[in-house]
Amino acid sequence: MAKGMLVDYEWCSGCHSCEVACSTELSHAHFPKDHCGVKVHEEGLYQIGEERWTDIFMPIFTDLCDTCAMRRAAGEELPTCVKHCQAHVLKFGELEDLARDLAAKPKQVLYAL
Ligand code: SF4
Ligand code: SF4
Repeated sequence: MAKGMLVDYEWCSGCHSCEVACSTELSHAHFPKDHCGVKVHEEGLYQIGEERWTDIFMPIFTDLCDTCAMRRAAGEELPTCVKHCQAHVLKFGELEDLARDLAAKPKQVLYAL
């Protein structure tokens, strides 16, 4: 079955821990320097109303993402980016299951990996 990554970007803090975890994973040693399977982009900060500001962080999964295949084959349940996201905004699993979760809440994106 196809795998996916559900991102609840409403609560992404922009801490970049997912990038660090991905790039330091042993099986990713062949990745080019400063590249990894996820990159966190920022939109903002700017004012959108008298007393409202917007600042959105969005983790984007790149072509280097291999869903931590070697790590999972070795028995680890979660990809390392998911395990190290302290805000718990990354959810990895079957694409069909995640599609149902996507419908349950706004400000989420679903990647098919
Ligand atoms: S699933 Fe694994 S390979 Fe993909 S971005 Fe996360 S840590 Fe990197
Ligand atoms: S997805 Fe998680 S680990 Fe990555 S920047 Fe957002 S809060 Fe941090």
